[in-house]
Amino acid sequence: MTHRTIHLFRKGLRLHDNPSLVGALESSEVVYPVYVLDRAFLEGSMATGALRWRFLLQSLQDLQSSLAARGSLLYVLQGSHEAVLRQLIQQWSITQLTFDTEVEPFYTQLDDHLCALCKELGVVVHSCVAHTLYDVKRIIKANGGEPPLTYKKFLHVLSILGEPDTPARDITLQDFQKCKTPVEDGREEQYQVPSLEDLGIEVDVEVLWPGGESHGLKRLEKHIESQGWVVNFSKPRTIPNSLLPSTTGLSPYFSLGCLSVRSFYYRLSNIYAQSKNHSLPPVSLQGQVLWREFFYTVASATPNFTKMAGNPICLQIHWYENQAALDKWRTAQTGFPWIDAIMTQLRQEGWIHHLARHAVACFLTRGDLWISWEEGMKVFEKYLLDADYSVNAGNWMWLSASAFFHQYTRIFCPVRFGRRTDPDGQYLRKYLPVLKNFPSKYIYEPWTAPLEVQLEAGCVIGKDYPLPMVNHLEVSQRNTALMRQVRSEQENTAQLTRDVADDPMEIGMKRECRDQRPSDDFSEKTERANKRFSPEGEHKSLSCNWASDTIRLPELSGEVM
Ligand code: FAD
Repeated sequence: MTHRTIHLFRKGLRLHDNPSLVGALESSEVVYPVYVLDRAFLEGSMATGALRWRFLLQSLQDLQSSLAARGSLLYVLQGSHEAVLRQLIQQWSITQLTFDTEVEPFYTQLDDHLCALCKELGVVVHSCVAHTLYDVKRIIKANGGEPPLTYKKFLHVLSILGEPDTPARDITLQDFQKCKTPVEDGREEQYQVPSLEDLGIEVDVEVLWPGGESHGLKRLEKHIESQGWVVNFSKPRTIPNSLLPSTTGLSPYFSLGCLSVRSFYYRLSNIYAQSKNHSLPPVSLQGQVLWREFFYTVASATPNFTKMAGNPICLQIHWYENQAALDKWRTAQTGFPWIDAIMTQLRQEGWIHHLARHAVACFLTRGDLWISWEEGMKVFEKYLLDADYSVNAGNWMWLSASAFFHQYTRIFCPVRFGRRTDPDGQYLRKYLPVLKNFPSKYIYEPWTAPLEVQLEAGCVIGKDYPLPMVNHLEVSQRNTALMRQVRSEQENTAQLTRDVADDPMEIGMKRECRDQRPSDDFSEKTERANKRFSPEGEHKSLSCNWASDTIRLPELSGEVM
């Protein structure tokens, strides 16, 4: 049978590796590409800040242009999925609905509704997995019906399953010549992507991360070009405070499906195949997308994954409820320049480096403020361009040592961590211009500067910039003791997500640290990095010994680093 098909875009805003769209084109006489801008659904499922709205609209515009270049059209309609599709199915005499399978609870619920609607209207549903490397249900099945709860076990299950499916072929002009999109002459206007103004959303910061498949592919190509960088990539050795990203910066594109992780994975495999040596999971680039896959798998089968209560893998902790302290963290007013600069970058640009995420997440939770990871997760969800249901919650549980990570005595120092890779504080001067005239010696702890130095810098601490909101050493010691107590009381829960070898990132990191000479000049390296990084994101691997920027608390390990 040849169908009349609606292909429904949700995530997966791309024409490469889009197997359900390929399926639609191969089984139909007409295909209508549709995006339903269901604001209640989008805002009800995850907090969406203005920057992510802009990224989404740009991605839709990009998709609309790519479809137009292939003689087709993207029909963008506002309203609820059910109401819009019910009307279109009848109006266009549709016989088939295609879309990508998603795993988040709000998508599975939506899919149930769409399937029921299609059943009622006699429409066939065809959906494929394309947002992850594997169908996560296959991984769970291969692990005996339970999600593997540690990365090591997860890799073991993947080794049984073999490589992921290869990406679907690219969609071309010929596809739409064989299978037309009936474009209603002169009526395309009504299907245009709405503007931010139309939606009443204000954004007044420049676009650093343009949304869309073509920008994502351009960024990917830039990285793939640099094969040495790809094969040597080692996550703990990248720099959190370089002025341009020292990692790929592809996460916003993966998050919305402007880029396919499978295509990325196979591009990396091809490069690895041509080199004698390459880094390995967990620290390699393929290792990074496998972390994503890991969190998707666990999230898909764990009740209340984005919450502490009712979440069986998460330690149940009596976090403090302190709105004033949370607000200081959120609005970059902690008085620790390293933390405040990161939070400023997050709010202004929507992307921060992984280790910068570590620093602020640890500070909010087990490090300093002892505030729930759920609060931090919600703030990240609102501001991150790459905000992702599974990955965000998984990493917040990790950083707060509520699950997955167990070396809770390792606490990041909010002064030394950033100074290690950027001793002059270029990153701080950029994001906290109020401190820009401080001498490097004081910039990470400006409250220690004599008053005359503060006056000369034009910034008096306590007046023009806040005093530190906590005594880091005191609160981190108190918190470690609290955490030790929680873990002894909830030993069984803690063990669920613990490998015998424990944290594999730490293992990778330690090896790196042994290889690293203490005399390495990080300042020079950071400067070189900033010179090399082109705005399009061409990066070189640089070393960063972040292990020594954590404190192991004395009463627990007898060591202060
Ligand atoms: P690269 O290092 O270049 O890695 C390539 C890709 O691998 C990334 O784009 C991403 O898709 C994936 N990846 C990398 N690190 C991780 C990781 N730790 N876990 C899962 N996937 C990973 N990432 C998100 O995509 N969305 C989030 O909402 C998110 N929230 C986070 C919250 C916290 C507290 C922390 C510590 C990390 C979070 N991360 C999140 C993971 C990670 O920080 C980002 O994926 C990464 O920094 C994105 O930059 P990149 O694309 O340059 O990564």
